[in-house]
Amino acid sequence: MEDCIFCKIIEGKLDSEKIIETANSFAFKDIHPKAPVHILIAPKRHVERPELLNAHELEDMFNTSEEIAQILGVKDDGYRLVFNVGKHAGQEVEHVHLHLLGGRVAKSMF
Ligand code: 5GP
Ligand code: ZN
Repeated sequence: MEDCIFCKIIEGKLDSEKIIETANSFAFKDIHPKAPVHILIAPKRHVERPELLNAHELEDMFNTSEEIAQILGVKDDGYRLVFNVGKHAGQEVEHVHLHLLGGRVAKSMF
C-alpha cells in the first residue's frame, strides 16, 4: 500500500534493522524499543487486522517469532507476543504486526 510505512520498510524503500525475512513475513527492530529485545513481525502483504491474515501468514508469523526468540537468546527465559488492535490498544501503524518483547521480566498486564 502506497503510504504505509511498514510496506515501505518491507519493500526496502525505508531503512530498518531487519532480523529475518521469510516467504510471508518480515521482521525488524522496533525503532522505539519498549524492552531490551523488541522486534516487529509483519506479514509482507498489507493486512489491517489480525482476523484478515490467512493461515499461511499466521503460521509463518508465529514460526518466525519462535526463530527470532531463539536467535536473540530470549527463548528459554520467555517473551511476550502482542497484537495491538485499534485505538484503545494504542495501534499506531495500520499494517498488522506482532510485537515480540523480551530480555527482562515483563510487568503483569492484569
Ligand atoms: P503499534 O502501536 O501500531 O502496535 O506499534 C507500532 C510500532 O512501530 C511502535 O512500537 C513504533 O515504535 C514502531 N515504529 C513506528 N514507525 C517505525 C519505523 O519507521 N521503523 C521501525 N523500525 N519501527 C517503527
Ligand atoms: Zn502496509
